[in-house]
Amino acid sequence: MEERKTGVLQGYEPQQVLTYFEQICSIPHGSGNTAQISNWIVRLAKEQKLSWEQDEFYNVIVRIPASKGYEALESYMIQGHMDMVAVKTKDCPLNLDTDSLELEVKDHIISAKGTSLGGDDGIAVAYMLTIMCDASIPHPALELVFTTDEEIGLKGISLMDVSSLQSQRLINLDTEDEGVLIAGCAGGIKNVCRIPIERRALKTPVYKVTVAGLSGGHSGMEIHKEKGNANLLMARVLWSLKTEVSIELSALYGGEKDNAIPETAWAVFASSASAETIYNCVKKLEEELHTELAGKDDGVCLCLEKIDEEDDTWQSALEHGVLTEETFQKLLLCLMMNPNGVQAMSSSIPGTVETSLNCGIMRLEQESFLVRYAIRSSVKSAKTYLQQRMEAYVRFLGGTVTTEGDYPPWEYKADSPFREYVMRLYAQKYKKDMDIQVIHAGLECGYLSEQLADLDCISIGPDMKHIHTTEETLDIESVKRVWEFLLEILQDKSTK
Ligand SMILES: [Zn+2]
Repeated sequence: MEERKTGVLQGYEPQQVLTYFEQICSIPHGSGNTAQISNWIVRLAKEQKLSWEQDEFYNVIVRIPASKGYEALESYMIQGHMDMVAVKTKDCPLNLDTDSLELEVKDHIISAKGTSLGGDDGIAVAYMLTIMCDASIPHPALELVFTTDEEIGLKGISLMDVSSLQSQRLINLDTEDEGVLIAGCAGGIKNVCRIPIERRALKTPVYKVTVAGLSGGHSGMEIHKEKGNANLLMARVLWSLKTEVSIELSALYGGEKDNAIPETAWAVFASSASAETIYNCVKKLEEELHTELAGKDDGVCLCLEKIDEEDDTWQSALEHGVLTEETFQKLLLCLMMNPNGVQAMSSSIPGTVETSLNCGIMRLEQESFLVRYAIRSSVKSAKTYLQQRMEAYVRFLGGTVTTEGDYPPWEYKADSPFREYVMRLYAQKYKKDMDIQVIHAGLECGYLSEQLADLDCISIGPDMKHIHTTEETLDIESVKRVWEFLLEILQDKSTK
């Protein structure tokens, strides 16, 4: 095997797992840049004389025969993704396309200097490589599935041909909480809505109003917190202004990502009302929002500016004109009447969001109004119904809807013998129960269970914090306990 720079994790247990993890960190493997790590996994499989497959998207399947005495047991599929969200701080000198990460350990917690760590999901790859390369670990026949580009819309698995996979039990290793067993997840789809608009010439003074001070967050995992959505708050601001002082809309912009709750939005409008009247109206609404969002988004603020005639914003408003009354009305109806936030809670797992959506991005273009929603549900039909409801309304307003990035949910199964078995084993070993969760975000189990009938899945993993950020950490003690538990599952013969 090729020698790579190792060292920082030397002396910690489980040594072999952490050695592989350190090697993984020395190979750049941000999403979209997985050829090198994929080829390295294949090389290790070849060295072990194992059967392997690698597809054109760099997904890899490695098959390991059963250990002696385990030939009669049912096989397992173990799965994790090899790509990471590669981000760095502003002053970090590394090139994440080409450089190794610089690992640090403090009080048994691993992090990477100035960058994300990729414990999500490098630790899964390290576990799988250790099982693959250590013949002394007893286990039934295994199918190890290493996927690519999970972090960019589950792309690798969505393109993978999984028809050769035989196992009916899957251990997915893409969970960030020890002691949690994930038993289902949401599917998602993006609704891209466009409503045609008409403009006319601008005649009156111009103002800019901004919604800011919101905390944002992940549109799935944080949707239940009912934070302020800047796009929808802006619709309210415009509606109030339109009703109370009469305004005409020239420009509108909000949000940066479909799957992030928008933190800011701004609008440029024209009005012949006095600046004082407009200001009072905005101030009154800001106070109301403070009361409504208390404890959820205390920082919310509305800011009003009168635009000078020399200003670029005025010039731009002059150039683009304002919306006709009818199209302004349609735009506001689209924002105000389409649903947003939590739509249904799960009845099988109390406290878990089942269906939700997030109005992530809005843009007023020259000829149309664009608004993008990220829809999620752990029930496939509920996701489709919500998508259709919105499409029906947008069409009624004279617009069109296209969809993007459709991925299936991993539906929670009331009857899951494998999950019951793993929970029993955990309770025996640790004298406490695993916490069963269905998460409101995507996991690759959705694609696998959709295509492989009767697949019984669980997802587990060691403690990580702040994944996808430069603050990401991985807990070594937890890596060790989850490793021991994984080995326990593999070597236990009682299931047969
Ligand atoms: Zn992950």
